[in-house]
Amino acid sequence: MLLEVRDLHVEFRTRDGVARAVDGVSYTVDAGETLAVLGESGSGKSVTAQAVMGILDTPPARITRGQIVFQGRDLLTLKEDERRRIRGARMSMIFQDALSALNPVLTVGDQLGEMFVVHRGMSKRDARARALELMDQVRIPGAAQRVRDYPHQFSGGMRQRIMIAMAIALEPALVIADEPTTALDVTVQAQVMDLLDELQREYRMGLVLITHDLGVVADVADRIAVMYAGRIVESAPVHDLYKAPAHPYTRGLLDSIPRLDHKGRELYAIKGQPPNLTHVPPGCAFHPRCPMARDICRTDPPPLYDAGEGRRSACHFWRECRDDLRD
Ligand code: SF4
Repeated sequence: MLLEVRDLHVEFRTRDGVARAVDGVSYTVDAGETLAVLGESGSGKSVTAQAVMGILDTPPARITRGQIVFQGRDLLTLKEDERRRIRGARMSMIFQDALSALNPVLTVGDQLGEMFVVHRGMSKRDARARALELMDQVRIPGAAQRVRDYPHQFSGGMRQRIMIAMAIALEPALVIADEPTTALDVTVQAQVMDLLDELQREYRMGLVLITHDLGVVADVADRIAVMYAGRIVESAPVHDLYKAPAHPYTRGLLDSIPRLDHKGRELYAIKGQPPNLTHVPPGCAFHPRCPMARDICRTDPPPLYDAGEGRRSACHFWRECRDDLRD
């Protein structure tokens, strides 16, 4: 097992009270596996990822419980300089907004090269050559000419490729990509996703792909974990989840993806808003928005039921939901 997040709890103290942003999340990622973590904004998917990377601002955030076991060691017990070393070389992150993640006053060649100088002790000349190879590998056209350009001189899609190059430069065991294609148009999104997928296979990295868009991850993820109000509400191998979701929230997300065979039909939208995390509804947190809610849902929080074949669902009526096959 490459990464195991166990019963992680993260809180934020706000003026309105304590927000339980991550409320008992557990997941695993193997080497060479892609786990998509899906949810609306505020579901806790990015906060969990930031806790794994060790880049949560504490305070205001506070990790109150849990373990993050990476390559056999609980990261939460390590000193900050050890975590920084792991973060640089063995796990890395790709952010949504490459322009603010890259250094605006350094050329992309210098930024990429610096990683090899600092972490691999390479000479500047060798580091520059390696940077160029990486730019080729992420398919930046005319890399030899563009190595001296600054981040703002690249298009959004090309900048995201440079971020990917930086993330894979030291051949980390784990890459976390937080909404890596959200700011891009649909065609570029698909190209960047294909590139990530290809590199992940080539380097046999574990990849955690954070997204709010189920459509984006269908072709690249092995498994999906769906988050709602700080918890995982469903996890399953990707094809099972698409074929027969075992949680009404997942079903709602799937039904809100535009489909060619549903042309002319109105798109489904899950009613209501995600809950305020300082005042999560009692029982099942999804009940005010759930078309299948019954009395028990308003009082009894559903555990994460074992739904068989590697699937789990936090719905009292997961069987009914799963067996109501999609047309
Ligand atoms: Fe809906 Fe009840 Fe299932 Fe929650 S437990 S998702 S409210 S049916």
